[in-house]
Amino acid sequence: MLRRAFKRMPESDIQHENRMLRGLLESLGRDALHNQQAMTRFQERELALLGAADLARLLERLTSGMRRSFELDSARLYLLDPFNVIRDLLATAVEEKAAFMRNVELCTDVRDTTAKFCDAQRPWLGAWDDDRHLALFRRRLGGSVALLPLRQADGVAGFLCLGSHDPKRFVHGQATDFLAHMASVAAICLENAVNRERLRLVGLTDSLTGLYNRRHLEHRLEQEVTRAQRYGHALSCMFVDADHFKQINDQHGHTAGDLVLSALAQRLRARLRTSDLATRYGGEEFAVLLPQTAADSAGALASEICRSVAAEPILLDNGGTIPLTVSIGVAALADDLRQPARDAGHQLLQRADEALYQAKQAGRNRVVCANPASA
Ligand code: GH3
Ligand code: MG
Ligand code: MG
Repeated sequence: MLRRAFKRMPESDIQHENRMLRGLLESLGRDALHNQQAMTRFQERELALLGAADLARLLERLTSGMRRSFELDSARLYLLDPFNVIRDLLATAVEEKAAFMRNVELCTDVRDTTAKFCDAQRPWLGAWDDDRHLALFRRRLGGSVALLPLRQADGVAGFLCLGSHDPKRFVHGQATDFLAHMASVAAICLENAVNRERLRLVGLTDSLTGLYNRRHLEHRLEQEVTRAQRYGHALSCMFVDADHFKQINDQHGHTAGDLVLSALAQRLRARLRTSDLATRYGGEEFAVLLPQTAADSAGALASEICRSVAAEPILLDNGGTIPLTVSIGVAALADDLRQPARDAGHQLLQRADEALYQAKQAGRNRVVCANPASA
């Protein structure tokens, strides 16, 4: 039938038709190849998101990683964080000054942030508009943008903003299946990473005082020593132990004892900087790491803590008070760069603990500073 139809066509028409069909086939082939390449790129990026070991790496892959692998000019992430949960998690999970954090915005005001985006249900693609996009990208890009809502089961978790100088990169009305799929994967990864990080933190926190526990101290100790050695910073350590705490339990009961311990933890925290690491080392003993703090400043801080605890008895819920004193041992990191960080860290704790023992021996309610460690 077809052959008969072609037979009736003049030769030139058949050749023309042939050329057209071949052109169409080539164009379809090019489109298929282009789609195949795009799909591979999206799949690679999705696998990278799924493979991110922790929250910090996931955020890095959603911003800098996204910009690099899609050859974009900007990739910024807005996360809705009304209760500062993510902010708190990141405080321990991300290196200070991590470059990718410049492109992560944690927003407490959900409504205001959502209002800055055109659509909270599906990706929005289109031309750059100074009025709407300058505030989102924090600089003038021109070109085109893709704004992807990250939707989770209980609502929008944030938005991923991709920007290109190329006006044809993201065109309004263009198919968004790949981008929407990637945004769904990103949202699920984000939810998992936040939950994992929360669990990790629960395992590192002491439930009575809210301070970090000994496991976390051991984990951070090596990092802090390495940092101090690398930048030539001082690092000090305090061991703080409640005096005659057993008697407090015996006289006032275990519940009152618990209250005294959490009040002591709060007082310690109130005297420390955010970069200091206060931990509950054991029962009524606290270990504090003081980065960038030399022995004399650490000693002065310890004396201040010792004085202030003794000066103000712990107030109970029933209006009663319990007098409390603490003994503190202080040591500073040895000035010996040849020592491996792990050994230097353990030695630091040990010397602070020995100084604490001396403070107890000398009568309690006092501070003893360890002699500088011999190299
Ligand atoms: P010292 O001045 O030598 O440190 O004497 P101390 O009584 O403080 O030290 P000791 O090690 O003899 O006793 C510590 C007590 O702390 C015994 C333990 O029952 C109590 N303790 C440990 N953990 C907790 C806790 O979580 N809550 C309460 N209430 N007591 C605790
Ligand atoms: Mg004690
Ligand atoms: Mg003790």
